[in-house]
Amino acid sequence: MISATPAEQRRLLDLQRIDTDIRKLGHRRANLAEQKALDDNADTLGRVSSEYATSRDQLERLRLQQKRHEQEIATVDSRRKSEEGRMYGGLIRSEKELEALRGELGALRARKNELEDSLLEIMEQTEELESLVATLQERHGELTGQVDALTQARDHAATDIDAALASRRAQRVTVAGDLPAEVVEYYEELRARKDGVGVAELQGRTCAGCRLELTAIEMEQVREDSVDSLARCEQCGRVLVLV
Ligand SMILES: [Zn+2]
Repeated sequence: MISATPAEQRRLLDLQRIDTDIRKLGHRRANLAEQKALDDNADTLGRVSSEYATSRDQLERLRLQQKRHEQEIATVDSRRKSEEGRMYGGLIRSEKELEALRGELGALRARKNELEDSLLEIMEQTEELESLVATLQERHGELTGQVDALTQARDHAATDIDAALASRRAQRVTVAGDLPAEVVEYYEELRARKDGVGVAELQGRTCAGCRLELTAIEMEQVREDSVDSLARCEQCGRVLVLV
């Protein structure tokens, strides 16, 4: 039997309450709702960022392609003009040469049509991509703002919990200091084995640790033991304190 005065037994109950608080705070600290929301948003932001970057690259490439097509069309046009100038300049007399020139002009027209068709396609794609890039840019901006706000909220929540934890730990040192080392050791050992609860209040006839009712004989035993030592619940083995 571990000796403890009724006042020490009540002090032990205070220690248990503090430890329970520390445990809850630690759990909250590790599972911050703000952290979860932040993680989710950061994931989405990561995906949107990469999609945004890819789309901008694609758009850049399309614009270059468009430019090259426009330059090539201009080249074809200027060649056509110069060939037409030769054609109608009246300097070519040979039918064979004229035939070759007609062929050349036909080929240039076909080439131009082909280029214009694909230019149109590129322009359509560009338009679609521009609208996608604009949407992604907006989404990216929104998400960045949300992630910033959530980071602040997370830091804020964490700071509050850390402050509460620091204060409870300081209280724990004081309360544990009021108790005999033997009592604290015994409690620590029980607490480790009993899911964080080593000492419980006797509420009426019920052990607050296991919620079971004590028999009349057990009640008598607890009353007797608790006069000068740590009484225990027969059912769960926790220290029972009469308050
Ligand atoms: Zn019990």
